[in-house]
Amino acid sequence: MKFVEPQVYLIGETTVHLDQTRKMLGALGGETALDWLSKTLPNSRSHGELLTEVAGRICYKSFGVGLNPNVTKIRQSSEDYIQNTLSKGDGSIFEHASCTFAFLNVSRVFTHELVRHRAGVAISQESFRYVRPTDIGLWLPPELRKKEVQIKAIVERIEKDYKDLEASYDWKGMNFDAKKKITSGLRRIMPDGMATSIIWTANHRTIRHVISMRTAESAEAEIRYVFDKIARLMKRKFPLIYADFTYTNLPDKTRSWRPKFVKV
Ligand SMILES: Cc1cc2nc3c(=O)[nH]c(=O)nc-3n(C[C@H](O)[C@H](O)[C@H](O)COP(=O)(O)OP(=O)(O)OC[C@H]3O[C@@H](n4cnc5c(N)ncnc54)[C@H](O)[C@@H]3O)c2cc1C
Repeated sequence: MKFVEPQVYLIGETTVHLDQTRKMLGALGGETALDWLSKTLPNSRSHGELLTEVAGRICYKSFGVGLNPNVTKIRQSSEDYIQNTLSKGDGSIFEHASCTFAFLNVSRVFTHELVRHRAGVAISQESFRYVRPTDIGLWLPPELRKKEVQIKAIVERIEKDYKDLEASYDWKGMNFDAKKKITSGLRRIMPDGMATSIIWTANHRTIRHVISMRTAESAEAEIRYVFDKIARLMKRKFPLIYADFTYTNLPDKTRSWRPKFVKV
């Protein structure tokens, strides 16, 4: 067995096709809408935020004064625009852009909690029906670190018993289907804390919600550790969408993040 640290990789995110967006804005609002894009683009920090703003502004045709006779002034800056939609709770525009994360060396404790979040997500998880473990990786939450030696001995015993049981099967003589059945059966004796991997795609409305729930002081240590990392990353990469998030420091050096606008 080996001790591991949960790892977070942002492996994908929504991008905007600028040429098509330009054509669309020209068709929709001529020079006024194109002007908006050329003033907005130089300050835009991410495609996710740009797409969110385009999606929002299309609702009232608020790319400039004159496109909608009911609109006599518009919010000029992206900061003001996104802040206003957050404060009004217009959450659906934050569903257009998403991020894809790979979580490695996370436990089944973590993945079981993660998959409880159903809205706005896509999930692909390592299958222990197909993947036969070679060794056990385990993350120790801070409150168990004084027991590291004892815990290592326990997990090594499980690992040894697993390997003895595994060795009692004639794997070479089995077809893939038979291997799958035995692999799936054997995983039942492995600990919940065993490291695994999962790909998680979520839109920004969902990411805001999950950060807030899973970095609460009462949340489980591992998922708080992971979503603290995500919150820090989101604040850096998408400063407007996460502008209203602030944090308090917790004793285990993670941060508990809360948005000012909860219902988004
Ligand atoms: C600190 C903590 C402790 C917990 N303890 C327990 C526990 O002891 N036992 C337990 O079983 N679970 C527990 N949970 C899990 C919790 O109950 C939720 O299942 C989980 O956090 C998913 O959140 P969500 O319901 O907001 O779902 P999400 O899928 O994240 O949904 C986001 C939002 O969309 C809306 N929504 C989603 N689905 C529906 C729907 N079907 N109908 C109507 N509206 C919907 C809701 O407004 C919801 O808040 C805990 C969670 C936390 C953070």
